[in-house]
Parts: sequence; C-alpha cells; structure tokens
Amino acid sequence: MAIPFDNSYARLPERFFARQAPVPVAAPRLIRLNLPLAAQLGLDPAALTAEVLSGNVVPVGAAPLAQAYAGHQFGHFSPQLGDGRAILLGEVLDRDGQRRDIQFKGSGRTAFSRGGDGRAALGPVLREYIISEAMAAFGVPTTRALAAVTTGEDVMREVPLPGAVLTRIAASHIRVGTFQFFAARGDAEAVRLLLDHAIARHDPAAADSPRPALSFLRGVAARQARLVAQWLGLGFIHGVMNTDNMTVSGETIDYGPCAFMDAYDPAMVFSSIDHAGRYAYANQPRIAQWNLARLAEALLPMLAADEDAAVEAATAVLTEYGALFQVAWLDIFRAKTGLAGAEDGDAALIQALMTCMAEAEADFTLTFRALSEGPAAARALFPDPAGFDAWAESWAARRARGALGAEAMRAVNPAFIPRNHLVEAAIAAAVAQDDFTPFEALLEVLARPFEDQPGKGRFATPARPEERVQQTFC
Ligand code: AMP
Ligand code: MG
Ligand code: MG
Repeated sequence: MAIPFDNSYARLPERFFARQAPVPVAAPRLIRLNLPLAAQLGLDPAALTAEVLSGNVVPVGAAPLAQAYAGHQFGHFSPQLGDGRAILLGEVLDRDGQRRDIQFKGSGRTAFSRGGDGRAALGPVLREYIISEAMAAFGVPTTRALAAVTTGEDVMREVPLPGAVLTRIAASHIRVGTFQFFAARGDAEAVRLLLDHAIARHDPAAADSPRPALSFLRGVAARQARLVAQWLGLGFIHGVMNTDNMTVSGETIDYGPCAFMDAYDPAMVFSSIDHAGRYAYANQPRIAQWNLARLAEALLPMLAADEDAAVEAATAVLTEYGALFQVAWLDIFRAKTGLAGAEDGDAALIQALMTCMAEAEADFTLTFRALSEGPAAARALFPDPAGFDAWAESWAARRARGALGAEAMRAVNPAFIPRNHLVEAAIAAAVAQDDFTPFEALLEVLARPFEDQPGKGRFATPARPEERVQQTFC
C-alpha cells in the first residue's frame, strides 16, 4: 500500500519552499484515476484513495511542500509567486527509473497564496485532465493527470463552483521562474544548487561538460524549440506562457486558458486575459525565446568566466534556439503535408497552404487529416477552392519527388483533438449535473487520437456556429 517516495526537492535548503500539508476537504470523491499512469509510476491503485488524492490523508514518506518561484507575467516581473494552490507531495521513480513529481493542485492555501483561496474549481481541473492527457496521447511532452477528485466544498469565483483537486505528475516542477526567484534575490548559492538539482534530473550529461550551466541552457532551449514546434503542429495555443509556466524539463505545464484552434488563424487567442495577443498562436516561438533569455539572465554569472563572454554565449544559445525551432517546425510540417526528403522550397510550400487555410478559415485539424487522404478530400474544406487547387498542383509536383503514404500522414495528423466546445460541454455536464459521462467519453476518444474511430464522428467535427467557444478563462 505504501508509496515509495524519494523526495529530492525536499532535501534542498529550506528557502526553496515552504513546508505545508494539504488542507483537508469536507467530502472527497474520486472522479477519475488514471490506472495506466499509476502502473507506469509503480503505484498501487489501492494506495490512491479519494482520501489520499484529496490531501485528507498524507501518505507515509511524503514531504509536502509549496515550491518558491518568481516569474514574468505578460512581461512584468513578479519576484515572488510560488505554489499558491499546489503542494508537491513528493517524488517517486517510475518503471523506467525516471524521477516524477506527484503534485496536488487545488489543495489549499500556502505561504505563497497571497489573496487567493488555494483552491481549484472542478471545471479547470477537468480541463487540465482532458488536455494534458490528450497531449500525452499526441506524443507531446507534458505533465500528466493521475487523478481528479471533488472536494464536497464550493469555491467562490464569480459564483460558487464545485471544488476539486487534480493530482499532477511531472518530470519536475522546476520553471524558468524558479531560477529567477533566486537570481532576483542575488542568491547565487541557491541558483547553483538549483542548477545542480535540475541538471541531475534533466541533463545529467551536462554535469560532465566543461560549462555545465551553458550545456543546461542549451538543453532547455532545444527541448523548448521542439515542444513549441509540436504545439504549432497541433494548432495548440498555451495561452499563458509566463516564465513561471515554462518548465526546464521541456514538458508543457499549466493548462489554464489553453485551447486548440478550429479555424486556422495565426493571430488566434482564446485567453480572456490576453488582450494584446502576446500569447497568440504564431507568437509562441518567439515568446519561448524571450523566456529563454530570462533563464539565460538568471544563469548569466555561471555561463562563462566574465560577463562579456557570458552574454556572447547566451546570445549564441538564443540564436541556436531559433534555428532548432525552424528545423523542428519544418520536420513536423513536412510530415504533416506528406513530404519525404527535404527541398529548399518546402517551407514556402507549407506556408502557402497555411495562407490558403487562413483565408478560407479552414479547420486546422480537418485540413491536415484530409490531406492524408489526398487533395480531393481537403479541397472540400475550402469554400472558394481556386487558391487551394493552385497550391495542390505545386504540392503534387513536390510529392512526385518524395511523398509519405496515407498511413504515415495519418500517424501525425490527428482525427481528434480536444475541441473547445467538447471540452466545455464535458465540463458543463459535470459542474451543472454531476454527470461525468461526457468527460469520460471525450477522454476515451482522445486516448487514440490518430485512429479513425467509427461512430465517433461527432468528436471530429468542428463546432457549429452556435456551439463555438471563442474564449477561455484561467
Ligand atoms: P497560474 O495563472 O495558474 O500560472 O498562477 C499564477 C500564480 O497565481 C501562481 O503563483 C499560483 O499559485 C497563484 N494562484 C492562482 N490561483 C490561485 C488561488 N486560487 N489561490 C492561491 N494562489 C493562486
Ligand atoms: Mg522554506
Ligand atoms: Mg502557473
């Protein structure tokens, strides 16, 4: 029954966190336990009761704490954020020997809560459950959802809403903002200790390199380049890419106002608080680079022997990030458009398609899925197909020199994404009627997003005009 904890973060100095047990809740009820993930973590499902997953019973060996971090939010620096409504319960080594955090989100107030209640509403918990598990099924690095419980308590937002706790699993919860927290205080020793800890977890090879901090920064940049390219390949908009919401592990974290777009629009924003479009779809690559520059600043004294050399080294990594992103983006979109091999004109060919898609407001997911079946299927998605036809001719000419088959294309172009209206409908049924069947049905379809699933067409179809959900909330 015991959970085999090995809590390395809790062994760091006390100023890295505030020890804090989860605050008990009135009446925990298990909504969903992710059994395959529990198995991967080597956890006995019998140990994962509603009492444990709500924080009411703290298992033996846990070292619950709230992590300290800072962050740039929409470009403005907050020197102290931290886990205001999350508790790191502890760490386990999974079946592959990979260290994984077990964290509760919505588990009560902490030293970092400021004015907040430390709680999470059921809607956002289900949203994170659905979208993070879909990301995992797409093969995108992400935190995972191990469980969701309701608390039997209301949380006050604009109206009272049912409360919930999400159990989140991550390679770590170390953020760019965790480094910023110590750097902003001039606590060089803590930056060093955090770096050693992060290297041990995410870049063990960097420990033996001549400049470990620089190797680590490079590793983070490479992971982010790949990650953001994968987001773009799915039409995903994170929505709140603050530096406290960017991991050094390269996992997607903090599913707040995120969403997958339906009609392709590079300027698309869902988040109700992103008024300036800072985190719009097409801005994400350069925002990740901006965030990496903040990480480089926090590590600066450790990057090289003197400041000029350090700035030069950091700049080189940021430039390299841009190149790595371009390579990853091209790899992904070549595969999505079924181009085998590499030709100079490929990026322009892909961009031309996306211009057509934007003009036609074509559904991002359906367009690429249809392309897997050939031009005729995709053509139907363009109301005025002349532009598409011209593009399809160049596409056919390029594909005559190297093409992937339909099966290979389907394997990178999902039929199913967590469409916003479906996510909202699943949440509404749970919140208003205590009915979790739409939530379960959506999870089941999204577990196999690349497979045609007979009878599930409803989940593949974009929202009808009256079903459209154009805004998301934190
Ligand atoms: P997020 O927007 O989820 O990335 O959160 C940004 C910061 O606000 C983090 O420090 C969170 O811990 C904190 N926060 C968000 N919601 C709450 C809440 N209900 N209670 C306390 N802190 C919160
Ligand atoms: Mg402390
Ligand atoms: Mg956050």
